[in-house]
Amino acid sequence: MKALVTGAAGFIGSHLCERLINDGHAVTGIDAFTDSYPREIKERNLATLRQHDRFTLREGALADADWGRLLDGVAWVFHLAAQAGVRKSWGRDFSVYTVNNVEATQILLEACKGRPIERLVYASSSSVYGDDVPMPMREDALPQPVSPYGVTKLAAEQLCHLYHVNYAVPAVSMRYFTVYGPRQRPDMGFHRFFTAAMRDEPITVFGDGRQTRDFTFVSDAVAATVSASTMGKPGAVYNIGGGSRVELLNVFELIRQVTGRAPRLNTTEPQPGDMRNTCADTARARADLGFTPTVTLEQGLRAQFQWMTEACVF
Ligand code: NAD
Repeated sequence: MKALVTGAAGFIGSHLCERLINDGHAVTGIDAFTDSYPREIKERNLATLRQHDRFTLREGALADADWGRLLDGVAWVFHLAAQAGVRKSWGRDFSVYTVNNVEATQILLEACKGRPIERLVYASSSSVYGDDVPMPMREDALPQPVSPYGVTKLAAEQLCHLYHVNYAVPAVSMRYFTVYGPRQRPDMGFHRFFTAAMRDEPITVFGDGRQTRDFTFVSDAVAATVSASTMGKPGAVYNIGGGSRVELLNVFELIRQVTGRAPRLNTTEPQPGDMRNTCADTARARADLGFTPTVTLEQGLRAQFQWMTEACVF
């Protein structure tokens, strides 16, 4: 099969491309190498893929793409390109989020109208839920994001639904819950915590450290995404959570066990936009996609730490 992956140079996108190539498919990736984090990190994400003759990379923004050419013969579109991260989405930077998360998605959906694609799988986020939904979070709860980032991810999800209903674009949305593992973005928690522990720098903890997250190892998120391209119900939304809901303070204990170094914590005020808790109800993903997470938090943290060590991140 031929697949198109947007955001192919990113953390999850590069893993997804590798999985598709390993499964025998032909993959075109598109990525604008936005300045969300340094280009050399994104180039490193692509290093293995670039050696493969079934992988092609087009560099550029979704708004400028030659869609006729890009979508020619494509069965699956995986839409991961976005400006990720909650904390920077306030203030003037919001326009970066509306352009890359909302406008870019609408452009892609317009391009997919009337084309014989089998699925468009969109990378949504647990950030759409906010703090006012019952735990565990179910897909039919009323989403009320607490960050501008969450608002843009929800808007794009709604666009996917609109284009499904009005133009039969077979869009499926995956609400990923805090993904981690090798190549995790440098602004994300585990990446920052490991780096601080190894450099003996303090870790800034926003709030009391009792907030919880449902952590998802990247290969589990990728497996669910690939399943959605054949088994996802067009128009549906799926929670993809790793089943490892843990308090932040317990994460620091695991970091100590994995690195052999006790992290020093610097507690400060909670940040606007940070959710208090996340916990996925994955019954729908289990029923429709056969989704079962396989990597425990401890296994996953060890894999991320090993990768960071080998990639000389510290
Ligand atoms: P990432 O920043 O590593 O990857 C996103 C990639 O998209 C980047 O390489 C960037 O250059 C590219 N990009 C951004 N805007 C673009 C545009 N307009 N045109 C072309 N390329 C563009 O992020 P990630 O952590 O791999 O996340 C991938 C997707 O999953 C995102 O949509 C994100 O919102 C979603 N998501 C991630 C997590 C997580 O825990 N990492 C959780 C929930 C949802």
